[in-house]
Amino acid sequence: MRLLKADHRFKRIYEISPEWIVENNIEAFILDVDNTLTEHGSQLLDDRVAAWLDTMRNCGVKLVILSNNRDRRVKPFAEKIGLSYIANGMKPFSYGVNKAVALLDCKIENIAMIGDQVFTDVLGGNIAGVKTVRLEPISHEKGKFMRFKRKLEKHLD
Ligand SMILES: [Mg+2]
Repeated sequence: MRLLKADHRFKRIYEISPEWIVENNIEAFILDVDNTLTEHGSQLLDDRVAAWLDTMRNCGVKLVILSNNRDRRVKPFAEKIGLSYIANGMKPFSYGVNKAVALLDCKIENIAMIGDQVFTDVLGGNIAGVKTVRLEPISHEKGKFMRFKRKLEKHLD
């Protein structure tokens, strides 16, 4: 199904290079947090992710966080890496994505949403009309429902 298919795929966020960004006309990224920038629920920042964020900033790429998680989980992490954020983003509904797009102040075709989940990040980005980049989740979750969703995602590969 077209809406469940990401435009691009990488394993980890730091594989996305400045060259690739230029080739794909991207000026801004909407970033998921859990299992995209760090492990689920973690406040730790991997050196490679920190370096990637610095590279993006140095290249003038605009960044904003959009997470479905709660404010008390997202805020400390967003502050740590110095980014604006939207918590309780309600992906895949367009509400949060539209808010992020407004913050970025870029044309929608020059914005890409990066995340690890098909049914929130990819679907939400595709519905809202931004480009979509799907990553492999950094670690695997333990919850039953999450395992079920990951199984469904595998069928879409
Ligand atoms: Mg995620």
